[in-house]
Amino acid sequence: MPIHEPSFDVLIIGAGVSGLIAAREIQGSGRSVLLLDKGRGLGGRLASRRVGAATFDYGAQFITTRDARFEAILNQGAEAGMMTEWCQGFAPTSDGHTRWRGQPAMTAVAKYLAQGLEIRTEKQIVAIRRAGDRYSVETSTGDLHFASAVLLTPPVPQSLALLAAGEITLDPAMQRRLDGIQYERCLAVMAVLKGPSLIPPPGGLAPTSGPAAWIADNQRKGISMEPAVTIHATHEFSLAHWDEDRMESGRRLLDASLPWLGAEVLRYQVHGWRYSKPVQVDEHPCALLQASPPLVMAGDAFAGPRVEGAALSGMAAAETLLAHIHR
Ligand SMILES: Cc1cc2nc3c(=O)[nH]c(=O)nc-3n(C[C@H](O)[C@H](O)[C@H](O)COP(=O)(O)OP(=O)(O)OC[C@H]3O[C@@H](n4cnc5c(N)ncnc54)[C@H](O)[C@@H]3O)c2cc1C
Repeated sequence: MPIHEPSFDVLIIGAGVSGLIAAREIQGSGRSVLLLDKGRGLGGRLASRRVGAATFDYGAQFITTRDARFEAILNQGAEAGMMTEWCQGFAPTSDGHTRWRGQPAMTAVAKYLAQGLEIRTEKQIVAIRRAGDRYSVETSTGDLHFASAVLLTPPVPQSLALLAAGEITLDPAMQRRLDGIQYERCLAVMAVLKGPSLIPPPGGLAPTSGPAAWIADNQRKGISMEPAVTIHATHEFSLAHWDEDRMESGRRLLDASLPWLGAEVLRYQVHGWRYSKPVQVDEHPCALLQASPPLVMAGDAFAGPRVEGAALSGMAAAETLLAHIHR
């Protein structure tokens, strides 16, 4: 039987960086907020995985920032021991700009941001509906959550599908604006090696040709006990091989990366990011879809295709929601 959950001021769909940052700001202003995420863990595209003694960051590889507010959060995370500086650039040139990583791995960033927040994982949202002066949010198991305001942070096509399922129609200009946002795909290979790789310190490089866009040595990065390499395919390769057997695509990427591996591959896994990086970034840091009751969309498609962009979009979304929520 479907459960009717207690009402919150704000429901946030997605506990990636944008949702977590928004939740901190909204809760800090005294409003009740609940985050719902379909994943088993937090962080969305900030993703780490353990395979035996090997640890992989297989989504975002590092975080950069130029924004003082986000830098302050990263510094606090570092003081708490959950983030640290990885390096200041990659061979052959170092640009001197700090690349942060999670401590022990990238998901620690999400865990740090999640402290003190109410979050439910393994909650797949299937529809958002208008329910009088509130919204109802339905999960795949039929449970209903109610709130005075909703923030959507999944990739834009997934968020639009939730609105369509709940028969929420948008202003045609807004619908066209959001329909235009598309994403690159990325196949990510995680390979455990028998010995150290040939990737030079500090442990990451971006090949200029071939099917791999990025190769990282997670042991050299400081997050893995065993030699463990992450390879990200280019969008072109990922799209062309998306429907192929994943292990076959992984093998192709490993073969193309042989000059940097330097040791036998003991085992590997492959993950597909359907929504890896937005191709177009919206001109606004978030989108106010409905003013009353407030319905807002945020994420890296709004303030920049990076962790920092997601964070800044989360901050803008919190500000927009708080300005419109019924007092
Ligand atoms: C392979 C790869 C490499 C990258 N490398 C870098 C990098 O080195 N540096 C950098 O700065 N950025 C990098 N990025 C980009 C960065 O990861 C993203 O910009 C950022 O993490 C996006 O955060 P977000 O909150 O906008 O979205 P997400 O992290 O995608 O969060 C959205 C959340 O919504 C949840 N969700 C979706 N649908 C539903 C639903 N129906 N019900 C409930 N929950 C739902 C998802 O589970 C997810 O947790 C990379 C991304 C990828 C994929």
